[in-house]
Amino acid sequence: MFRKNIFWKIFSLFTILTIIPLIIFAIYIYNSFKNTYFDNYIEVLISYTRLIKEKIESDSAGLNYTGLASEYDKITGARVTIVDTSGKVLADSRHDPSTMENHANRPEVIDAMKGKTTSWHRYSFTLTDDMLYAAMPVVNNEGNTILVVRTALNTKNIEGNLAGVRNSIIGFIIIISLLTLTVTFIFLTRILRPLFEIQDGAERFSRGVFAQKIFPPKDNTLRKIADSLNSMASLLDEKLVIIEKQGNIQQAVLRSMKEGIIAVDYNENILLLNQTAKDMLAIGIESFQGKTLQEVVRISEIQKFFKRVSSEVNPQETEIILQAETDRSLQLTGTQLYDIENKAIGTLVVFNDITNLKYLDSVKKDLVANVSHELKTPVTTIKGFIETLRDGAIEDRKNAERFLDIVLKHIDRLNLLIDDLLTLAKLEQDSGNEEIEMETLAIKPILESVVEDNEIKSHHKKIDISINCDPDISAKVNKHLLEQAIGNLLDNAIKYSDKKTRIEVGAYAKDNVLNIYVEDEGYGIAEENLPRLFERFYRIDKARSREEGGTGLGLAIVKHIMNVMKGSVEVESKVGKGSIFNLKLPVV
Ligand code: ADP
Repeated sequence: MFRKNIFWKIFSLFTILTIIPLIIFAIYIYNSFKNTYFDNYIEVLISYTRLIKEKIESDSAGLNYTGLASEYDKITGARVTIVDTSGKVLADSRHDPSTMENHANRPEVIDAMKGKTTSWHRYSFTLTDDMLYAAMPVVNNEGNTILVVRTALNTKNIEGNLAGVRNSIIGFIIIISLLTLTVTFIFLTRILRPLFEIQDGAERFSRGVFAQKIFPPKDNTLRKIADSLNSMASLLDEKLVIIEKQGNIQQAVLRSMKEGIIAVDYNENILLLNQTAKDMLAIGIESFQGKTLQEVVRISEIQKFFKRVSSEVNPQETEIILQAETDRSLQLTGTQLYDIENKAIGTLVVFNDITNLKYLDSVKKDLVANVSHELKTPVTTIKGFIETLRDGAIEDRKNAERFLDIVLKHIDRLNLLIDDLLTLAKLEQDSGNEEIEMETLAIKPILESVVEDNEIKSHHKKIDISINCDPDISAKVNKHLLEQAIGNLLDNAIKYSDKKTRIEVGAYAKDNVLNIYVEDEGYGIAEENLPRLFERFYRIDKARSREEGGTGLGLAIVKHIMNVMKGSVEVESKVGKGSIFNLKLPVV
């Protein structure tokens, strides 16, 4: 559009500047020529008139005016009219004088009557045509005007001659114009092409396409412009690549940060908001460009915190709880945002999800309380019996022995508890440790050994334990730990089953996962208890667990063992029907 405009603007200007002076010049030339041409005719007419006038003056007596007029018309080709002083036409070479009106009012006749030699270019009412007239007075010897001689030429012929000249001039102007315009067109196209190429290049560069550079024009000045634009493009290209790289790194950093980040300017327009912040605060808006904090984050505590941070010089901190399906605890750290020149431009807040930390904290507190509680019961009981013995019961040998048995049983329980706690502590240490010894072993012998270890207890309750395992099945395991895990499950299965029930211990591989299971027909576990089943000291029926000699740590130990072996544990259970505990390990 622009290039068409500029081209036609310059072209029109050139056209106007060339053709208008040419036309003016042509008109001037034509008019000068026409005037000279008419002047020549007038001269000739006047000389004809003079000839006739002199003829009449020399031969005044007995002249036949009509004959004279016709004779001179023939010689000169001009119409000859002779008028007397009253204006009456005495003779006319082209018209019958008797039918002609009085000519006293004709301007050339009026002039001639006054003694002047005159010429006029005007319309003839007699011949109804444009005519060129010349008139002269005929004077007698006394110097008085007696007649007026007038000659006239039809201007049609003159005009005809002039038309030829005019047409030649017009033709000449058209040819010169066409030539000029063609040359201008070619010249302009050649001059403007490199300019348009520079324009194309600049447009490409503005669109961010830097690969195609501007071809250097021949003209020195234009080449300098093209060179400058080309080097500017190269520089921009390099800078953009750097900016893009930096942007990508920045994006990658922001994306992989586990902290949420929101930055706003002083009008609380969002400057930056990473994916983690979106996930943490459940922000559904895709693009935050041009949006304010209020539009994007609808949590009033967070909005208030941003206000607090922006009004304080020092960094601020707070904790909030986001209520959702599962409550989440967030720690917010806010500071003013500074630009490179250390000018405060807004507020930056970092969000840390501390739900797990809070949970661990509460688990630790619970653990200390639980351990103290678990230890306190046997210690109090032991203390009570020892005090009773010291206060005299030691003398009563039969009771004393029974008391000592109870003390021993509680010491065993303490021992068991300490063993389990130590096992758990060790497992927790090992879970981050890659060096735990693992070897590929057949599973069936391990199952057989665990069943054998539990034979006395199962025998006692008349529980039948069967093993269902292909001898080829093997897995990469730590033998001791796996035996302990299966042992704990089998121990529970016996403990929490009625007499004369059945237990099946087995292993099978499915979808690249090795499943080692312990299935019983015991009391089962209600669904609401399943989520917390693997927590330390979690027991459904505390009394029954204690009675069975449980510490409440068996399943917690199983879970940790499976963590250490990069496996997992699952449970399915129905109250009154039984349970299946499943240890899952990757197939070798
Ligand atoms: P405990 O020492 O009390 O057995 P565990 O951690 O081994 O501790 O088990 C936790 C609780 O899970 C037990 O107290 C019991 O209520 C329940 N439980 C474990 N195994 C079974 C099972 N096979 N059948 C029914 N309940 C079970």
